[in-house]
Amino acid sequence: MHKQRIASRVANIKPSPSSSAADRANELRRQGQDIISLVVGEPDFDTPPHIGEAAWQAIQRGETRYTANSGSLAMQQAITGKLERENALHYQENEIVVTNGAKSAIFTAFLATIEAGDEVIIPAPYWVSYPDMVIACEGTPVIAQCTEAEGFKLTPERLRSVLTEKSRWLVINSPSNPTGASYNHDDYVALAEVLADYPDLLIMTDDIYEHIRYDDQDNVHLLNAAPQLKGQTLIINGVSKTYAMTGWRIGFAAGPFYLIDALQKLQSQSAGNACSVSQAAAIEAYNGDQSFVKQSQAVYQSRRNNTLAKINQIDGLHCSPPDGAFYLYVGCEKLIGLQTEQGHTLNTDTDVVLYLLETANVATVAGSAYGLSPYFRMSIATSQNLLDDACERIALALAKLK
Ligand code: PMP
Repeated sequence: MHKQRIASRVANIKPSPSSSAADRANELRRQGQDIISLVVGEPDFDTPPHIGEAAWQAIQRGETRYTANSGSLAMQQAITGKLERENALHYQENEIVVTNGAKSAIFTAFLATIEAGDEVIIPAPYWVSYPDMVIACEGTPVIAQCTEAEGFKLTPERLRSVLTEKSRWLVINSPSNPTGASYNHDDYVALAEVLADYPDLLIMTDDIYEHIRYDDQDNVHLLNAAPQLKGQTLIINGVSKTYAMTGWRIGFAAGPFYLIDALQKLQSQSAGNACSVSQAAAIEAYNGDQSFVKQSQAVYQSRRNNTLAKINQIDGLHCSPPDGAFYLYVGCEKLIGLQTEQGHTLNTDTDVVLYLLETANVATVAGSAYGLSPYFRMSIATSQNLLDDACERIALALAKLK
């Protein structure tokens, strides 16, 4: 009999909760239920045609072979150009590695740097993958709680309280998934004052939502406010969210050469290189017409305003306006302790999410997945009609609670 054995590093991690919630919603759909799924974090737009056309042209030119492990030179140049133009940050081509989505850049960075027991500071609410990636690399996630009253942002005091001699990384995700919280210039200056005492700490900035921002807020990067941190900072970004290119799988890391070189080495023995055709598309995304970015931002802004207002009108729910990204992180503490018509008590946000799925047929993700309860996350990357319908269904379902 074959003994089925899997390494403990896999046993120790959870599958992505948003993927599990999406699977459950799909299962109910297959059973014939009319489910509105507000689970998945990806733009509902198609990739702009000029980007698809660039991919097709690359195929016709025969750009269908391996590229350099760290990406084609043209792709690296498109990225250094983007960082210069949009972020006023200066990088050389050899300080860039192109990866299979931002996700792979983050994982490779952790794998390249974390020794067993190293600590990674992750402000909560966090993107679900950070802690599990750290665990897969045998590191220890250290969760720094950030409350709604603090704008869901890491305060200098909290940062200082979680830093130890074992701290290896601090992860900053602005605008954040799931809360949309975004750090401004002064926030960064205050954090940098604390970080000045930790020159060996690495800082990861996950900038994947940088162009999905509301109310004309400035796009300030940590390194604009605190350029002295450049030698210890790794920038993570990619085309997935900004250009509706989640399926193309192009991300990148930008940072000091020694780190990029390590990522490149690890990638050369694992993924190899990111898809050549997708790189051609991403070059067009960065260098070509940018009107999609503005247009999609306007659509997100209008959905965010409308849906936020609707959620805040529902008895028992409240939501602070997100600064960016395309989620609402909805507080539901007033529902805890209430009873359903079937006599079940809602004890946790997981109970609330299950109730919404079963009674309102609206799929969301429980705050417990992101490290701060009782909340649930709803994605607004779907049509306003569906969002309106979802809010109505949620209101009706909640009105039945006693
Ligand atoms: N970081 C955050 C905060 C995200 O929400 C996501 C996508 N859900 C990623 C990284 C990964 O993006 P990509 O599709 O480029 O791998």
